[in-house]
Amino acid sequence: MKHVDIKKMLSDADMVGTDVVVCGWVRTFRDSAQVAFLELSDGSSFQKLQVVIDKNALTVDGEATKLGASVAVKGTVVKAYRGEGNELNAKEVLLLGSCPADYPIQKKRTTLDFLRTIPHLRLRTNTFQAVFRVRSVAAQAIHRYFHENGYYYINAPLITASDCEGAGEMFRVTTLPWNADFKSAEEYFKNDFFGVKAGLSVSGQLEGEVAATALGKIYTFGPSFRAENSNTKRHLAEFWHVEPEVAFAELPDVIEIAEDMLKYLVNAVLTECPEEMKFFDSFMEKGLLEKLSHVANAEFAVCTYTEAISILEKENARFEFPVHWGSDLQSEHEKFLTEQVFKRPVFVTNYPKEIKSFYMKQNADGKTVAATDLLVPGIGEIIGGSEREADLTKLQAAMRARGMDESAYKQYLDLRRFGTVPHGGFGLGFERFVMYCTGIENIRDVTLFPRSVKNIM
Ligand code: ATP
Ligand code: MN
Repeated sequence: MKHVDIKKMLSDADMVGTDVVVCGWVRTFRDSAQVAFLELSDGSSFQKLQVVIDKNALTVDGEATKLGASVAVKGTVVKAYRGEGNELNAKEVLLLGSCPADYPIQKKRTTLDFLRTIPHLRLRTNTFQAVFRVRSVAAQAIHRYFHENGYYYINAPLITASDCEGAGEMFRVTTLPWNADFKSAEEYFKNDFFGVKAGLSVSGQLEGEVAATALGKIYTFGPSFRAENSNTKRHLAEFWHVEPEVAFAELPDVIEIAEDMLKYLVNAVLTECPEEMKFFDSFMEKGLLEKLSHVANAEFAVCTYTEAISILEKENARFEFPVHWGSDLQSEHEKFLTEQVFKRPVFVTNYPKEIKSFYMKQNADGKTVAATDLLVPGIGEIIGGSEREADLTKLQAAMRARGMDESAYKQYLDLRRFGTVPHGGFGLGFERFVMYCTGIENIRDVTLFPRSVKNIM
């Protein structure tokens, strides 16, 4: 159907005086004696189009004025009677699809909880359209940032035989139901599709290291899968993961890249989605715009895990899980550090080796590894990264200490055998970034069809 996007029609001064066709869904209808107003959205912009119907000249099918109905309108573009931009004087209103009164998206019933039960329709609301426009702009900005900075885009496999130990529980991939005739697990896996135990990747990092130790700077941007058995507002079973990996980079370089990237992404969202961001600032998180422009300009804080623990220990009374040196940081601790102590994003560095993954570079103190998590207000951890262990012997020792099977990691160890280099990288949870930018508090509300425990609508 030949038509113009509402976004273009609203703002293009050259269109004034011309006849165009626009298509969209009815948002509101206001009727008076002489004129009627039909407000349309086609998803292209936050602002809706006002269609003006001169009732003396045109009779409109009642069905075409109902909330949610889809229509095509032919008319003349005119400067808006009130406010900025253009509106449309209708010559013809064509009903494409009627929308009966049991349409679930009614003005009064639009809580996020309710909308979560109708994931296929919730995108018809202002909130979700704004979320998904921001999400799209952020995704494009991620590719732009890395492309402009000389990184190559790598697609890591989603089906894997390695479980990137430590990152989370893996979903199994199998075509073979368990059958009591198999004498052992080994025999069972041997008969399965891949001949070994396989699963959905929890991270593209190990493959990312393969690429980075040849191409220098790479990033992956794709789904990761984790059989998270908890129902939190910031975990999904399937999420999108941005994972740069850089050769010749040490921990301070990793931190610098993460900060620079995050600022670039925040700036992109602020400049490319001004109306959406104004909306989120008013209706989702008061002060969001101020928070984000501060983030785009201020320097992030850096503090060691050991410093963080000594700050937190003084506050142990307020926590559900009191901390001591060696404890993993829970969401409540992460939020306290970034929201109350530093009041801005903070990189926590050099965690105890016991609570981090085998592949992280072991520090000279023998107790900590060169890892970093970036914590941000409202979310907690948004990025997890590290310098990787580049020393073959030390890496093997770390694997042995964890009881890991070295033979399953031959390729990974080869990277340390043949021309090993210092290198590092991080993982950004894409949905967590979208939450951070929009002020949306539940990760399920920034994902088209969220997957989590007992939920696959
Ligand atoms: P968390 O401690 O929050 O569970 P993690 O330490 O397991 O995260 P990493 O393995 O460091 O996470 O993964 C890198 C990033 O991926 C995290 O910083 C986070 O932004 C994101 N992430 C991790 N798990 C999930 C998940 N289940 N759903 C959505 N995003 C996730
Ligand atoms: Mn982490």
